[in-house]
Amino acid sequence: MTRSGQPVAPMRASTLEIDRAAIAANTRRFVRSTSAAIMAVVKSDAYGHGLAIVARTALASGATWIGVTSLAEGIAVRAAGISMEVPVLSWLNPVELDVATAVQLRIDLAVPSVRHLEAIAAARSRARVHLHLDTGMARDGAAPEEWRALMAAAKRAEADGLIEVVGVMGHLPLAATPDHPANERGQCAFLRGVELAGQAGLRPVVRHLAATAATLTIPMTHFDLVRIGAGLVGIDPSCTTRLRGVMRLTTPVVQVRRVAAGVGVGYGHSHITTRATTLALLPIGYADGIPRCASGRAHVLVGGRRRPVIGEISMDQMIVDVGVDPVAPGDVAVVFGPGDDREPTVADWARWAGTIPHEIVTGIGPRVGRRVI
Ligand SMILES: *Cc1c(COP(=O)(O)O)cnc(C)c1O
Repeated sequence: MTRSGQPVAPMRASTLEIDRAAIAANTRRFVRSTSAAIMAVVKSDAYGHGLAIVARTALASGATWIGVTSLAEGIAVRAAGISMEVPVLSWLNPVELDVATAVQLRIDLAVPSVRHLEAIAAARSRARVHLHLDTGMARDGAAPEEWRALMAAAKRAEADGLIEVVGVMGHLPLAATPDHPANERGQCAFLRGVELAGQAGLRPVVRHLAATAATLTIPMTHFDLVRIGAGLVGIDPSCTTRLRGVMRLTTPVVQVRRVAAGVGVGYGHSHITTRATTLALLPIGYADGIPRCASGRAHVLVGGRRRPVIGEISMDQMIVDVGVDPVAPGDVAVVFGPGDDREPTVADWARWAGTIPHEIVTGIGPRVGRRVI
């Protein structure tokens, strides 16, 4: 409102609504599906949905752990007011790390190598650690060849009172394809890793291997804790389960133009109109996370119908062909949403862009206003 009491137009043209009830429903869906504890993975601002709202809603709906990929994100979790009673785990940390801050904020640290372990032990602050085994990604975690050495080093450090070993973790590369043999190999590698930890005299009470896809498709992988990120925000990599979409992205029509047949549209004239039609201009583009490579395939909902996005998507704007329908400036276009009203979904945009939904939701730019509903 202005001082005179007049309502003012919102400062930002495009709005991203985050549906808290959908996050809660998705969380409860996972709580019901397993006897393991649920870790809400809120890395990358909870996949672009907002760390604080997703963490709080998931915890209120049955999740009991929070997972992040850096100490900075763990600090942000505590800054968001998440109680010190709630365990937080941070993985993917560099060797040089402020271990004292992690311990002070009760943030557990994943340990992927002997070097990391030695650095954490050197801080002499009795950090809580989860030993991270690479169970088939050839990515983060200790290589199987290093695992015994890591167990021995962890046992020594624990005996000296320098660390406390809380968990063992792994991650599966092909859980979205549950029949793939890599899943059984990963489970065997994980069980063997846990067994070797026991033989080394360690007692990791929190064993965790599954993320969203494995939790939905391979119950054997649940162990003590499952780490759920995508699933909380309505993304199912295994395409087996109906989860609720959480984001709704809208933008207003700013301009409408009647054009004749044969008119080139946008940069490069990649689209030439084939008939007289009406073009609606939307103030959102690739700088806001609309993938440019979806040009020529994407659709948005305007006036209750799906309309093609034509020409090249620009940095700040894109053009929609609305035909002969009466569309006016100020009408709202739905770029994507949960799909209730036939609007495109995040999964549709991912398909048009040749990517996965995760990349769409984490890519929405800072010019888009955010609102929790
Ligand atoms: C991102 C991540 C998760 C969460 O994966 P989703 O498929 O989004 O549930 C779990 N574990 C690790 C190690 C991760 O990096």
